[in-house]
Amino acid sequence: MTDLTDTSRCPLGVRCESCGLEAGEHLAVYTTECALGVMCLTMCLHCGRASSETKTGSIAVTTASRLVMQHAGHLGVTPEGMRLLQTARGRRPWNQPRYRWVQP
Ligand SMILES: [Zn+2]
Ligand SMILES: [Zn+2]
Repeated sequence: MTDLTDTSRCPLGVRCESCGLEAGEHLAVYTTECALGVMCLTMCLHCGRASSETKTGSIAVTTASRLVMQHAGHLGVTPEGMRLLQTARGRRPWNQPRYRWVQP
């Protein structure tokens, strides 16, 4: 089964997607889940340790859907396939009470 959190084929960005820090060696690709799927984000060590809720909280839904599509491409799956995998594994972060995004 495809590991949705595999970042081995994800390109590393030039700055942190969350705080904008440009700190080359401190940046890494992190994955985070939302109702749209799993997305990959380049983040610094500090932001990368934050919860999924915090990470996705600063990202617009339109941006998130683009990131999810891109990450599906990195994994070689379709966005629909990604959602099926998420559901199959019982990972539905949008069912949690504090989740702020509506299910598309
Ligand atoms: Zn950061
Ligand atoms: Zn990716």
